[in-house]
Amino acid sequence: MKPVVKIFITFIPLILILLLVPTSNSSAYTRFHGKYTQTPYNTYYWNGVDQIPTINAPLYVDNAMSMWNNTSNTRIWMVKTTNQSASILDFHSKVLEDINILGRTTWWVGNSTVDPKTTNWYWAKVEMNKNSPYSSIPNPKGVYNGNIVFAAAVAHEIGHALGLAHNSSYFDIDTLMFFDFIFYTDYGIYYPTNDEILGVRNIYGYLY
Ligand SMILES: [Zn+2]
Repeated sequence: MKPVVKIFITFIPLILILLLVPTSNSSAYTRFHGKYTQTPYNTYYWNGVDQIPTINAPLYVDNAMSMWNNTSNTRIWMVKTTNQSASILDFHSKVLEDINILGRTTWWVGNSTVDPKTTNWYWAKVEMNKNSPYSSIPNPKGVYNGNIVFAAAVAHEIGHALGLAHNSSYFDIDTLMFFDFIFYTDYGIYYPTNDEILGVRNIYGYLY
């Protein structure tokens, strides 16, 4: 047998096996299980973050929200309000000692936090760490842009607020909800990927 033909035959089983392995484009999103009691379409968010030196934090909260609003065929559309009591997603600044915690999200019914794994929530609170060194975190090309880093962290927290938990498989390293911020530093992800879009469609349904 000619060597080329022999090599081809050897590789056929390998090719078939690779086709059976799920790729990162499959539905890898992870849900908490709970969700907003109200579909977050035509709902309000309130932006109370403070300016941070060198970072336009309020603007990039709005930009992160816009990236979620612009996701295709999802029932995510949140409009900014100055009336905090009308909001179902509040953004605050917080000084957290651990600078590695860029932001955190809590889920609420009235004045009590709830476990998103077991209970649906009426509103959510995102707190962005004023202590984190956003401007010293590079993208994969070695470029430092604190505004984009901040937006990546906000967009990730919005995913939590909507009901998405962390992706922990390294097949999903290039998704916004990967547990480690290397989704940004190694892959430059700062927006909802197809994975998160599939996730919120699963939680709240399609727009059309
Ligand atoms: Zn997270």
